[in-house]
Amino acid sequence: MIPGARIIILGRQGAGKGTQCVRLSRHYVVPHISTGDMLRAAAREGSELGLAAKEVMDAGGLVGDEIMIGLVAERLEKADATTRGFILDGFPRTVKQATALDRITAQQPIHVVIDLDVPREIVLERLSSRRVCRDCGTNYTAAGQEPSPWICDVCGGDVQQRADDTPDSVNRRLDLYETQTSPLIDYFSSRGALTVVNGVGHPDHVFKRLTDSVEARR
Ligand code: ADP
Ligand code: ZN
Repeated sequence: MIPGARIIILGRQGAGKGTQCVRLSRHYVVPHISTGDMLRAAAREGSELGLAAKEVMDAGGLVGDEIMIGLVAERLEKADATTRGFILDGFPRTVKQATALDRITAQQPIHVVIDLDVPREIVLERLSSRRVCRDCGTNYTAAGQEPSPWICDVCGGDVQQRADDTPDSVNRRLDLYETQTSPLIDYFSSRGALTVVNGVGHPDHVFKRLTDSVEARR
């Protein structure tokens, strides 16, 4: 394995993107840049941007393109991303963001865009039992008997259901995915940059499919 890579991961909410991205970032020794995590951190800090974003996120909407493009452009300029690369998780989510990303990465083109494919029926099920540590972001699956919040095994933080994992919000996000984000599949595929990876199966098998598809492209 050669360290360093510039990878974009697309996929429905609840496709297991977050966990796989953390693993990929360790494997390739590159930062995991998650726009959802960045926005949630801003919301916790209570900045003006964070509070405005929180309202949109809790309702299952999309934060404005200009804000998102600014955030990502600033993050990709940092030394870790320019020297080692990155796993970009949650961006781009609209065609406008994708064209902006082309400009941002003009000097250092993306190696591969992966669509982590999990059907809507399956992610709906996963999202309703998803619980997340509000401090370190570790994902858990609830069986139904747990206290709320429960204590994170990794960091001791509070594990809770995300405010945007309610049925209404989940359905709205999945609808937005179909209308706003799925056109990116064609956008990247027509430029020959896309690899579709089957996201159904044991997480270790999915991870192997992901690294195989990165190796095939780099
Ligand atoms: P999920 O994939 O489970 O919806 P994320 O953690 O990626 O969650 O994002 C959470 C929320 O943050 C999104 O529902 C959206 O409101 C906002 N968000 C994250 N990335 C973007 C983006 N690139 N453009 C617009 N909104 C975004
Ligand atoms: Zn934790």
